[in-house]
Amino acid sequence: MVFKCQEDSFLTEYTSRVVKCEPTKEPIVEYGKISKFEGYQITLENTILFPAGGGQPHDIGWLNEKEVLQVLRKGDEALHFTIDPLEVGATVQMKINWERRLDHMQQHSGQHLLSAILEKEHNLPTTSWWLGADECHIELASTDVSEATVVAVEQRCNALIREAVPVKVKFCKSDDPELDEAHTRGLPKDVMATIRIICIGDIDENMCCGTHVANLSQLQMIKLLGTEPGKKGKTNLKFVVGNRVTRLFQRMLDRERTLVGVLKNEPSKHEELVLKLQKNLKLSNKNLQNLLSELAQFEIDTIKNTEPKPKYVFMFKKEATPDFNRAICKGLEGEGLFMFLASEDADKPKEGQIIIQGPEEHCNALGQQITELLKGKGAFKNGKFQGKAGDMGSINKCKKLIEDYFNNISS
Ligand SMILES: [Zn+2]
Repeated sequence: MVFKCQEDSFLTEYTSRVVKCEPTKEPIVEYGKISKFEGYQITLENTILFPAGGGQPHDIGWLNEKEVLQVLRKGDEALHFTIDPLEVGATVQMKINWERRLDHMQQHSGQHLLSAILEKEHNLPTTSWWLGADECHIELASTDVSEATVVAVEQRCNALIREAVPVKVKFCKSDDPELDEAHTRGLPKDVMATIRIICIGDIDENMCCGTHVANLSQLQMIKLLGTEPGKKGKTNLKFVVGNRVTRLFQRMLDRERTLVGVLKNEPSKHEELVLKLQKNLKLSNKNLQNLLSELAQFEIDTIKNTEPKPKYVFMFKKEATPDFNRAICKGLEGEGLFMFLASEDADKPKEGQIIIQGPEEHCNALGQQITELLKGKGAFKNGKFQGKAGDMGSINKCKKLIEDYFNNISS
């Protein structure tokens, strides 16, 4: 069956009748994302809502104000997925989400044009294509697609769009001898008796079940976004057509404006500025590391020279790095001290890193209480605890705990 949407891709409203209405639990597939569904699948006498096929996603719309969330083709029928049922025999007013459909038509007709130019003028045949929520790509049967080819193809396609080359649909029977000339790409596996051929001027003829624009000017423009390695021996060429070009440009413009505000300079200076910032940051980090290791040595010497000799070390420096704390531990090893060292995570101030180390009797007495207080994750290994703390908010309680413990045992 040829659906109404395939006869006239520009119909936005239509009246039909319910032929069948059955419960279904088939999931909804939206640009490759699958979500659970429980409702009804409705068959109509005819439809202007395109069921997914030929790489083109399904339409969405309304049947008497009831939302159609998915349309799938099963054999000769188009199944409309709705939450609530409709009575068999009832007349329905159909409406389509036209913005979504026009977008799909622009990407799909754009793909036909792109594939035709790549194959006929650059010997790069298309093996499959993908229409995503933001970007599309075609898969080319080659690993050798040069930047120069991409530029030339984009210019050629946009020139044909400016010429408003007509796009026509031809119907023929599946045993028609003319069929040999047309490509079979995008043809559904369960081939229908009537075959549709999409003709772009005298540039391309392709069998396809999808909905297409009436002439290339309706594509507005095509923008190729570059290539990526695909499956073995293939290359994916990314592209957007029509309103997606404007949408993408707007998003890039918004990001650029944000960067102008952050970097306080014009876009042409951004790369230079970011490189300079990265270099400065690296240098600052190196200086900080040097200072921290000097500070660690100073702390070690101070503790070693304290009289009378302390029983324990409690050190919590917000800006300390795990390296700093490890250096202190190493420097005081063999001094017989109980050590507790902590630092805060720069990006998550409530969390941090802790080290507990020292004579076994003290670790046994304090270890569990400390890790419980600070929600520590990790375990004692060879008399040493080193791990994450989930709640640095209890650090003062922890300090008090250690103070009281050592006051008690010395009195
Ligand atoms: Zn197609």
